[in-house]
Amino acid sequence: MNSLLLRNVRPLGGAPVDVLIEHGHFAAFGPGLPVPPAAAIEDGQGALLLPGLIEGHTHLDKSLWGMGWYVNECGPLLTDRIDNERHQRRALGLDPRRQSRRLADDFLALGTTRIRSFADVDTEIGLSHLHALLELRQDRVGVQDIQVIAFPQSGMLGRPGTLDLMTQAMADGADVVGGLDPSGIERDPKGHLDAIFALAERFGRPVDVHLHERGELGAFALELVAERTQGLGMGGRVVASHAFCLGDVALGRQAGLLAMLARAGVAIATTAPASRNVPPVAACRAAGVTIFGGNDGIRDTWTPYGSPDMLTRAMLIGLKNEFRRDDQIAMALDCVTGAAALGCGFANHGLAVGARAEAVLVDAQTVAQAVVGQPPRRLVIAGGRIVARDNALC
Ligand SMILES: [Zn+2]
Repeated sequence: MNSLLLRNVRPLGGAPVDVLIEHGHFAAFGPGLPVPPAAAIEDGQGALLLPGLIEGHTHLDKSLWGMGWYVNECGPLLTDRIDNERHQRRALGLDPRRQSRRLADDFLALGTTRIRSFADVDTEIGLSHLHALLELRQDRVGVQDIQVIAFPQSGMLGRPGTLDLMTQAMADGADVVGGLDPSGIERDPKGHLDAIFALAERFGRPVDVHLHERGELGAFALELVAERTQGLGMGGRVVASHAFCLGDVALGRQAGLLAMLARAGVAIATTAPASRNVPPVAACRAAGVTIFGGNDGIRDTWTPYGSPDMLTRAMLIGLKNEFRRDDQIAMALDCVTGAAALGCGFANHGLAVGARAEAVLVDAQTVAQAVVGQPPRRLVIAGGRIVARDNALC
C-alpha cells in the first residue's frame, strides 16, 4: 500500500484537515481530500497531529533500559562516573546491540522518528559500541533516522590509541565527530579541539562536543569551538551539548557568547536538567542560536532518570525555562521537533508537503496540552506507514 489518507486531524492544533501520504512523503494537506484508489484510510477523529519527534542527544549504546534495576553507588565526580561506567559495563554484561535496539523501539513507539546518539569509543571496547549503532542505523533506514556520533567518553588525548580509534570510527561510517570537556577532562583544550576539528575536516563530518564545564572555563571552550567553526566554514554543522556555562555567566557575558555562537553557526543541545544552570531557550532563540533537546543518558550508570518519551523531555525543558504561556511551551516542543532537525541536520522533517511522512497523533486540544500531559500516542507514522498504535509498535 503506497497511499495513506489521514482523515480529520489538526496539525499542531490548527483547523481540521485531511493528510495524504504517498510513497513515504506528505503529498497534500487540506479539507475533504479525495480518496486515491487503493489508499488506506485512517480516521483521526479530530486529534492533534504532531511532527515526528526527535531525540537530539542520547546514548543508546549504554542504556540499561529493560534490564534489572542498577543500584547506583557511584562517586560524585565526572571522572568517578567515567571510571564506574568502564567497570560496570563489564560487570553487568552490557550488550550495546540489544540495548540500543530496545531503546530505539520504545522511542519509535512513542513517536520519535529521528535519533542522534553517541557511541562510546575507547581502548577497552574499541569500536564495538559504534558498530552496534551503525548496524541499528542500517536496519532502521526508511523508518527511524539514526545519527551515530563517535564519542571518546573516557578521554582521548590522555588515553593513547583513542585518537586512532576515533579516526577508524569515522572511516567506518560514523556520522558525527564527538568531543568532550576539552579542559576539564582532556586538560588540553587547544589540543583536543584541534584534533576533533581535524577529523571533521578530513572526513567532511559535523562535530558535537559535550561541554559540561562551568562558568568561564566553559565560556572559554565555547569561544574555541566558535573560532574553529568559523575558521573551517562549518557553521550549521557544530553542536555544543549541555553548555551549562551559558546559564552560569552574567547576562551581559551570556549575550556576548550567544551573539558569537549565532555568528559562528554553533547550535546548542540541552537536556534542561533540574539540578543545573542551563542555556536559556528563549534567549538562545532570540539571539539566533539554534537550541534543541535531548535526554542525554537514559537509565544508565550515569543517571537513573530519563525515558524514551520526547514529550516528557519537552515538558522538562518548559519547566526549567519557566514556560507558562502556550506560545512559550510551543518553543519547548520545537526543541524536540523543528529546531532539533535544524541543529542535527535531519533533512525533510516537518508537517509539510514533500517532507518525509512522520507524524504522531495524540488526543489533545493544543500543542501545550500535549507537552504538559504527554497523552498516549494514538498513532505513529514513520516512513509513510503506521508503525505504532497506543504506545505499542504494530
Ligand atoms: Zn551525553
